[in-house]
Amino acid sequence: MGDRTILMDRYEIGRHLGQGNFAKVYYARNLASGQAVAIKMIDKDKVSRVGLMVQIKREISIMRLVRHPNVLKLFEVMASKSKIYFVLEYAKGGELFNKITKGKLSEDAARRYFHQLISAVDYCHSRGVYHRDLKPENLLLDDNENLKVSDFGLSALAESRRQDGLLHTTCGTPAYVAPEVLSRRGYDGAKADIWSCGVILFVLVAGFLPFHDTNLIEMYRKISKAEYKCPRPFSIELKDLLYKILDPDPSTRASISRIKRSAWYRKPIDGNALKIKQEPRDMVYKGEATASHSPECSISELNLASSSLTNLNAFDIISLSTGFDLSNLFEEKYGRRLERFTTRQPAEAIFAKLNKVAKQLKLKIKKKENGVLKLAAPKEGMKGFLEFDAEVFELAPSLHLVELKKTNGDTIEYKQLMKDEMRPALKDVVWAWQGDPHPLPEKIIQGSQQPQLPLPSQQPQE
Ligand code: AMP
Repeated sequence: MGDRTILMDRYEIGRHLGQGNFAKVYYARNLASGQAVAIKMIDKDKVSRVGLMVQIKREISIMRLVRHPNVLKLFEVMASKSKIYFVLEYAKGGELFNKITKGKLSEDAARRYFHQLISAVDYCHSRGVYHRDLKPENLLLDDNENLKVSDFGLSALAESRRQDGLLHTTCGTPAYVAPEVLSRRGYDGAKADIWSCGVILFVLVAGFLPFHDTNLIEMYRKISKAEYKCPRPFSIELKDLLYKILDPDPSTRASISRIKRSAWYRKPIDGNALKIKQEPRDMVYKGEATASHSPECSISELNLASSSLTNLNAFDIISLSTGFDLSNLFEEKYGRRLERFTTRQPAEAIFAKLNKVAKQLKLKIKKKENGVLKLAAPKEGMKGFLEFDAEVFELAPSLHLVELKKTNGDTIEYKQLMKDEMRPALKDVVWAWQGDPHPLPEKIIQGSQQPQLPLPSQQPQE
């Protein structure tokens, strides 16, 4: 058996599990522990583009915030010269939607998955993280039929990314995307995710999409008017819930707490409910057409046609990152002259603190513009005056990322200043320094055998 493929002396690579826009996914086994994992391999050349660093930084932070039984775990990230490897929790059951190729689900079976989906989404929203791209490919199952939402993290690239001109409506699959996202109005990430959950619920029980048309413009129109018809067997409670979720007006659309209070949601979950109704699937659910419906432009074609930066998902984006211990990939660009931390403080409080610390440390405040504070050491160092920028990025309304980047002077002096002065002085506003090689806190290690990600020093309470 001489043709085993071993990755980084740690994982034995097995069969091909799937293919995404930029990545191939393989089954693998951890050689030391025997744990089954999925490894997503991303070709760096394919995704190497300029101008994504801001989004990338946000994504890294976001991925670290999200740990939930129904969110696919990311165990570690590794890199070679040409590839980036994401070691993920293995979802043995594959895509949830493969199930409905065998027939639509009973309402009881759909309820169980829907509870898990809502639980994952609720958890992420409570952390200020929005998925924004919930769709069938992102719903996987483990070997106990538990739902695992993947790619939670396209998320916080909201408005600023639009101003960058990068975020287009195609960031989500159109059939699952909320009307306000399609119409490019400013949107609330939580409400947009809830809409997608509604479409997913409909598809699970109906076996076809609520909004579909051979003409894409017509499909957009139907979405914007929430024009759909529930199949007759749908219960009244389910119809009522869908009506509340698939509300084109996000301000009146059901919130998660309202969903949880609905009669359909509150019905008891039958543990043996995962039986599939053996009725043939009668239409489309992933942009595919049956013989009777042949879209002029299918969703998958649309995605291919516009497979630009805007279609990068969280993993694609992270693959460009300098976080997750990938510093060697970008050494020449950022190397050791960059420090980052996340904070729960609002922007004004962060700047107030930075100003206070600057005074305390006798740093000169050169100027403040566009959310960047330019700071300089009072005395000349080995390589001229040490200067650095403090820049604040909004990850989510309640979460900011602060980047301290050396722009002039000696790197060792800079590192020293960060370690001895800045870090202790900023202690009370910092939620987590990025890239700190702290071990995982006990309760988070449970179930994870590869606690190799540098983790925030403080994790949010579960
Ligand atoms: P993605 O690039 O995330 O869309 O992944 C492509 C496909 O690979 C998915 O649609 C799944 O079928 C499969 N896949 C991705 N991640 C996993 C995983 N963690 N476990 C099992 N299969 C996966």
